[in-house]
Amino acid sequence: VIRRFAILAAISWALAGCMARVSAPELAEEEIRARRDALGPEVLNAFRDLKGRLLQIEYRLRTANAPLCGPLVVPELGVLMADENSFSEGVVQGIASSSLGIGDRATVVHALPSAAFIRAGGRIGDALADAEHESLTRFVIERSDRDRPAAPISVEMIRQGQPIELTIEPDVACAVRAGFSQEGTLLPRKHDAFTSAIPAGALRYFDDDELAVLIGHQLAHALVDLAPAPPTDREAASDRIGVFMAARARFDYAVAPKLWERIAAEYPGAIEGWPAHHGMIARRMPALHALVDEIERLAASGQPLHPGRF
Ligand SMILES: [Zn+2]
Repeated sequence: VIRRFAILAAISWALAGCMARVSAPELAEEEIRARRDALGPEVLNAFRDLKGRLLQIEYRLRTANAPLCGPLVVPELGVLMADENSFSEGVVQGIASSSLGIGDRATVVHALPSAAFIRAGGRIGDALADAEHESLTRFVIERSDRDRPAAPISVEMIRQGQPIELTIEPDVACAVRAGFSQEGTLLPRKHDAFTSAIPAGALRYFDDDELAVLIGHQLAHALVDLAPAPPTDREAASDRIGVFMAARARFDYAVAPKLWERIAAEYPGAIEGWPAHHGMIARRMPALHALVDEIERLAASGQPLHPGRF
């Protein structure tokens, strides 16, 4: 024991010696700011790209599956918005305004090329003229006719300091949606009745097809919970509807069993446990394989891909 202690003491003494010699060089305030402004756009852009990938997948799922969502549909534009309040840390606010030109108005920082906002002639960097709203999508939803979500809507925007008017013909999407959450876990969870949180961990771990099945499963959970008479086995219903959703949005839905095997490999407890959500994977596996076969047969014979009533 004493010998081991002596070795540890020697190591920590040696490390302490190193520590003393390793320290960041002294920098002037100005240089720190310059380096922040140089690094800032790069990291904010990478962060925006991560959210952009989620938007691309969830948008495709929600628009392709609007017919499954009955009255639960909303107008959608396919944009990511930010204003200086989107960034909680003072220093990041500084980067956003000085380097990316994001001010106090909601500004479009990312837009899907084929979605409603770009089709209407909108551009990245356009800001919503109405300073009271932090989301262009919410602004449009509030002004839309519930029964005609695709009806054109005029919106005043600011482009490079000048007011412009865009007439947007919204896409129609399921009202259940998937938002981003800054968590390392792989499993999505409910944020509120309509919104689910998709963790950054899942976005970094799964490919697009796997993510589509996972996000479809989560959107299905929200739909099932909102149903007037929810099915007793909500997990099985969410599997069924979610895989159909991925198929209808033309993702490779056949990855579904593999996706849940990969999740089981990270969370072995979910093989037999977690009856409330996303668990009991061993029991769900045969149904997932049968589901893939069923959709393959429907697709091969040109029949509509509909999961049935729920
Ligand atoms: Zn689930």
